[in-house]
Amino acid sequence: MAFLQGIAASNGIAIAKAYRLVEPNLSFENKTIEDTTSEVARFQAAIEKSKAELEAIRDRAQVELGADKAAIFEAHLLVLTDPELNGPIEDKIKTEKVNAEAALKDTADMFVMMFEQMDNEYMKERAADIRDVTKRVLSHLLGVQLVNPSMIAEEVIIVAEDLTPSDTAQLNRQYVLGFTTDIGGRTSHSAIMARSMEIPAVVGTKTATEEINNGDLVIVDGLKGEVHINPTPELVAEYRKIHEQFEAQKIEWAKLVNEKTVSADDHHVELAANIGTPNDLKGVIANGGEGVGLYRTEFLYMGRDQLPTEEEQFDAYKAVLEGMNGKPVVVRTLDIGGDKELPYLQLPKELNPFLGFRAIRLCLEEQDIFRTQLRALLRASSYGNLKIMFPMIATLDEFREAKAILEEEKQKLIAAGQTVSERIELGIMVEIPSTAVLADQFAKEVDFFSIGTNDLIQYTMAADRMNQRVSYLYQPYSPSILRLVKMVIDAAHAEGKWAGMCGEMAGDETAIPLLLGLGLDEFSMSATSILKARSQIKKLNKSEMESLANQVLNMQTTAQVIEAVNNATK
Ligand code: PEP
Ligand code: MG
Repeated sequence: MAFLQGIAASNGIAIAKAYRLVEPNLSFENKTIEDTTSEVARFQAAIEKSKAELEAIRDRAQVELGADKAAIFEAHLLVLTDPELNGPIEDKIKTEKVNAEAALKDTADMFVMMFEQMDNEYMKERAADIRDVTKRVLSHLLGVQLVNPSMIAEEVIIVAEDLTPSDTAQLNRQYVLGFTTDIGGRTSHSAIMARSMEIPAVVGTKTATEEINNGDLVIVDGLKGEVHINPTPELVAEYRKIHEQFEAQKIEWAKLVNEKTVSADDHHVELAANIGTPNDLKGVIANGGEGVGLYRTEFLYMGRDQLPTEEEQFDAYKAVLEGMNGKPVVVRTLDIGGDKELPYLQLPKELNPFLGFRAIRLCLEEQDIFRTQLRALLRASSYGNLKIMFPMIATLDEFREAKAILEEEKQKLIAAGQTVSERIELGIMVEIPSTAVLADQFAKEVDFFSIGTNDLIQYTMAADRMNQRVSYLYQPYSPSILRLVKMVIDAAHAEGKWAGMCGEMAGDETAIPLLLGLGLDEFSMSATSILKARSQIKKLNKSEMESLANQVLNMQTTAQVIEAVNNATK
């Protein structure tokens, strides 16, 4: 039995066998072959095995993921059986007496290079198909298993180095009971997705992929951030009990689903949800969300090979607005860059992507992309209570420019006879320290602020939110962060505007008493945290939390703040 300590990324307990989502080692040695006839036969056998495997994957994809995902595997099957590719490989084995692995790799590399150099998107995609198919045949030649999450057909815990947002989105909730990764923090996107999918997760274990083998029994404790490998039956029994208690607690919280969020001394705050796609709305409603405080629209742009059209975006925004039935919906315009890549935009690699050409910076430069999104939003606005916010605003000039573009698109739509709501509020994310410091000036021009602490903390502390080694600097309760938060809230209130928070800190048990005391108006979090937060706030006294907040603002360290919160709320 072994034990790993990581970061609790998504609540709950999961117990199941491990499924390693780790690419196998496909390295091999070049060899000279005497018996070329049996080498060709070995190659053909690998092709046959790959074919059977791909056919099974295609059929499964057809049922579970739909025809367009299945078409990808159909294309792979065509490549696999293409004599134009297999002929030269067999010839190479026969004439050059090289092993099948070397003949396959050399020939495939040549075709990949040829296709990649063509100035034609279709041909470039074929290069990607050849690369995938080569990997599969090579795995059969080497006798190792490729990973294939869409083929998972039993309850598992995924073990991976990291999971991209699109990996996470493809996980089948029915079979994937939990996951654990080597890297990542509470605010990495895999963690955020895990919370919205309600899958218990522990990230940042550093060594999960080294220590866990396929088929090991694993306990993921998403409450404490612990992973137990091949636990004793006693520990499994203990965890089954904790799981039951957690489920019972959820039933208690569920009773608050239709209640307003009011403190013990009758102060109302709004608890909203962060969502990534219209599908997340079910969770928002089931968990009693009073609105959507952050719709991360970049997921619309991910996991595909071209930009979404205005119509596609319009449909998604309309679905969310209608689904929320008049409750507020804050839609954030495209926030791509940093850890959120869009390969098809083919942006040059940067040395410091988190500090680079991203989010509003990209939108102001690539205005076609921005204007398309704004038009879709404006057209959808009459279907509900839309608020728009811009991400990564660093200067007032950026805000003014973005607002002017929005205004231009609005006037064009109105001139063309489109209905556009007259009451769209326009706000910004406060996630760059310069904006927090200058919040009093911004407050004169924006309708609201939403504090993005995931980034605000990383930029204030100069500590990458994904980097495990500097995670000790990622301190939401640091007096420095709390002072910035206070500046933003006070600046909004001085101008009669509202201030919300959509960073993960808003749903954090230790931060909530402080944020209530600082006067935060709207808390936006993973839908699954809402009921717990509501139950916590109902027990807190706002005026007491105000004194607590005033006290901690003058403290020196995070540890002192945590102690003060614990003493005041226990
Ligand atoms: C944030 O930075 O706090 C935020 C909510 O945005 P994201 O996590 O998408 O960067
Ligand atoms: Mg951010």
